[in-house]
Order: sequence, then structure tokens, then C-alpha cells
Amino acid sequence: MTHRNLQPRLPRASSPARGVRFICGRRALVSSALTATALDLARTEDAHTYSAEDVFDTLVCTIDHRGPIHYGAVLNLRGTHAGTIWTLWRDGIEAHNAIVLPDCPATNGDHACSEFSGHPGAHSWNLATPPRPTPTFPLPIPPSPHHDNHVTNRNPAP
Ligand SMILES: [Zn+2]
Ligand SMILES: [Zn+2]
Repeated sequence: MTHRNLQPRLPRASSPARGVRFICGRRALVSSALTATALDLARTEDAHTYSAEDVFDTLVCTIDHRGPIHYGAVLNLRGTHAGTIWTLWRDGIEAHNAIVLPDCPATNGDHACSEFSGHPGAHSWNLATPPRPTPTFPLPIPPSPHHDNHVTNRNPAP
């Protein structure tokens, strides 16, 4: 029985040291479409069996970067060198693409960097989670279904 992966691995929260750098911290929900895309990709990349339980519920941009494009892990492939499925998203636009990226090969003592190979910014052991998570929910709020209520109210039952 595997535990459900509720969150990507985040850098350990530690007391901010001098010169500490932070992950971006932007969050977004993983849509059902992205879940399906990631599972398709996992099944073609890897002989292991994956289910929706293996997909993270929430994207967290764990990269130290500038700019409007965020990076979030979607699914950790099993196996030492299997890599991780990541997505990229832009503020205000739902993440829907998924790509397998090799893990960053850098290590620091017993700590392996949890970012992807070639990531911008510092390695994960040099990064702290921001004290206050960056507020998000970058998706536009869908219109409320006023139309139905309107119709109902204009035609009250006798
Ligand atoms: Zn970001
Ligand atoms: Zn790294």
C-alpha cells in the first residue's frame, strides 16, 4: 500500500539564514485533464503501474526563478533514475502540458536536489519555503450559474 502523494517534496522549512533564497511558492490545482495527461505519459515512460493516486493534488512552484512561467512537479516516476513529470504554467492560465524531466543530479551530502536537471536558480537545499505561501489560484473564476436561477424566478410554480 502506497501513501497518497498529497504534496510535492518541498524544501524543509528552516529558520531563514543570511542570504537565504526562497522558492517561488506559487500554487495551482492539478486539473483532471492534467492528471490524465500525466498518467498517459507515465505509462508510456515507465513499466510501473500508475493511478490517479500517484498524481499530486496541488502544483507548487519549487523553483527559484523570475518571470511569469512556473514549474511544478506532477508525478514522481518510480525508479532511481526515472525522473519526474513536470508541468509549466503561466499566471492565469491552467497548466495542461506535462513533460518527463530527469532529476537534477546535484547532491549536497545526503541531500539530492529535488528540482529537474537544468533548473534555473539555486538547488533545493539552498531554498526555503516562503514564510507566507504565495497566494494563488491563478485560474479565472467561472461565471456563476445565474441564468438558471433567473429562469426559475421568472417562472414561479403556480
Ligand atoms: Zn514560479
Ligand atoms: Zn539542482
